[in-house]
Amino acid sequence: MSETRTARSRGTVTIEAERCKGCELCIPACPPAVLTMSTPVNRRGYRYPELHAGCTGCAACLLVCPDFVFEVFRFDTPVEHTVEVTP
Ligand code: SF4
Ligand code: SF4
Repeated sequence: MSETRTARSRGTVTIEAERCKGCELCIPACPPAVLTMSTPVNRRGYRYPELHAGCTGCAACLLVCPDFVFEVFRFDTPVEHTVEVTP
């Protein structure tokens, strides 16, 4: 059985999956760990990052990515999400 919790996002990112080369540098660079690699692959055969609730808009992913995959947006007002957590 899964539980729910509230996650707050203070920003978001767009992910240009077709530009990604699957190097995974962005995954440990994200302080709240809200990026995970996809299961599907892009047209070049690389897995790419997917965003989960809790982005702070810090832009660490944008700075570390060698392929300009991310755009970062900060929200004026944080957005709250209810997310399922598997214990
Ligand atoms: S750092 Fe950029 S190129 Fe590397 S996996 Fe992340 S999005 Fe893809
Ligand atoms: S902007 Fe910061 S918090 Fe949001 S996905 Fe990128 S590294 Fe993670």
